[in-house]
Amino acid sequence: MTDRSEFVQFLDTLLEAGRFRDYGPNGLQVEGSATVRRLVSGVTASRALIEAAISVGADTILVHHGLFWRGHDGRVTSWLKQRLALLLAHDINLVAYHLPLDAHMTLGNNAQLAVQLGLVARSRFGDQELGCLGERVDGAGFADAQALASHVQTKLNRPVTLVNAGDEAITKIAWCSGGAQGHFEAAIAAGAQAYLTGEISEPQAHLARECGVAYLACGHHATERYGAPAVAAHAAAHFGLAHEFIDIDNPA
Ligand SMILES: [Zn+2]
Repeated sequence: MTDRSEFVQFLDTLLEAGRFRDYGPNGLQVEGSATVRRLVSGVTASRALIEAAISVGADTILVHHGLFWRGHDGRVTSWLKQRLALLLAHDINLVAYHLPLDAHMTLGNNAQLAVQLGLVARSRFGDQELGCLGERVDGAGFADAQALASHVQTKLNRPVTLVNAGDEAITKIAWCSGGAQGHFEAAIAAGAQAYLTGEISEPQAHLARECGVAYLACGHHATERYGAPAVAAHAAAHFGLAHEFIDIDNPA
């Protein structure tokens, strides 16, 4: 077990939380128990995750998507009231890291997604260097974009939306987990032949066709379910905590 403050300080340092311009606060979002013994990790601080954490007796939840986002008007009503009420009633700490948890070089979402897909990053690109550019670990590449899409589909066990399935062999692959549609142009500029992320919006389909770069939308949740458990397991080992990852399935 450890003190809450030591736990949060450890994560802030590990993830270099102060280095990022982000869409919400990183670190401790809701204060609960002063000591951390039983940690649950998850992708999003949804009511289902909070209820599951309560049922296993957790005192601390570590997530990628916390409760407070730029643009929210700050009212504690409806779903936000319900989630907060559960956390406060059970004295549970909510600790959230967004971009710092995407970016960590070995434990972050992008690094852990690469492990799942058998990719290795050779460089970083785009805003705050969040995107990864690399290749297949074995250097073999993929016969074409459809072969890459099939590979990702198998590894993530989720359908992939592929745009611009050209027939050229794919060796230079860029990726950025979650809702990183906006990094597509930077990936193209960095020289990628294919770009993997969680979601697609209307403009990216045209850019993929017109620029000749394959676009793979692989699921926001599916591409972001590996970072939080990796970071939590690392912290749990450091402090000798009980830890479990609870995956609340999400089709998006
Ligand atoms: Zn996300």
